[in-house]
Amino acid sequence: MIRNYKMLDFPGLKHGITTRVGGVSKGDYVSMNTGIFGSDVREDVLKNISIAADRVGITASSIFMTHQTHSDRIFVIDESTELTSLDVYDQAKISERAYQLYAIEDHDAMVTNRTDIALMTFHADCVPIIVYDPIQHVVAAIHSGWLGTSKMILSKTLDLMHMRFGSLMSEVKVVIGQSASVCCYEVQRNVYEAFEAILVPEEMQVIFHAKADNLWHLDLKEANRLLAKKSGVLQGNIEIDSGCTVCAPSLFHSHRGAKGGNRGMMSILVQLENKTL
Ligand SMILES: [Zn+2]
Repeated sequence: MIRNYKMLDFPGLKHGITTRVGGVSKGDYVSMNTGIFGSDVREDVLKNISIAADRVGITASSIFMTHQTHSDRIFVIDESTELTSLDVYDQAKISERAYQLYAIEDHDAMVTNRTDIALMTFHADCVPIIVYDPIQHVVAAIHSGWLGTSKMILSKTLDLMHMRFGSLMSEVKVVIGQSASVCCYEVQRNVYEAFEAILVPEEMQVIFHAKADNLWHLDLKEANRLLAKKSGVLQGNIEIDSGCTVCAPSLFHSHRGAKGGNRGMMSILVQLENKTL
């Protein structure tokens, strides 16, 4: 029920991306729905978040959640961030462990070098991206739909990690998670034009597959891989989850699959741990 990635298999890192399997939600939200900003029964969602955090092995009591707006804004949590000055949005608790949930408004990426907090983003078809620098011990969680990708939120996060934390692009690991794949992600001219502004024609040909006049299938995972490579991330340090959220409704929540109806959300959950010396 939680997706793990070889690329992020480090002793100092807890990570996972939830699926729709393994939770307690009912109806359209069956069963692991972490969408706390949606309209599912709140108690069930809080239970799901607790279950997922426990399964990932989150030990921090503070979880920072993005309240996403398809922006390119990146929230940094470092030593100077005073947790006591922030409002707790809610609490998730099922057993002994209680998680304080902090909602970060109007941001679509978070970066931290702290070991006492976890990061959480929300996805239905949009691409979840985890970036980890095992040398500087810094991690990022990113929500990157077509709009965020065309605003180059991944590139901007990598830049920030370099400038602020000294991350070298030759060292960082990038995981591009389950999302709407090229098989199911039909887009129109407005999306095509947004990418024309940031990519050269050869790159456009790789990520847009023409289907009809003004109709394409977009390979958003490949677009993010391209951006990572252009930032200097090594090809061998990028792992892509082949899972298509639209193709597999029993495994994933999907915005497109729900055709405008209720649907749940899946989440990145990630936390740094103290490296053992
Ligand atoms: Zn598909």
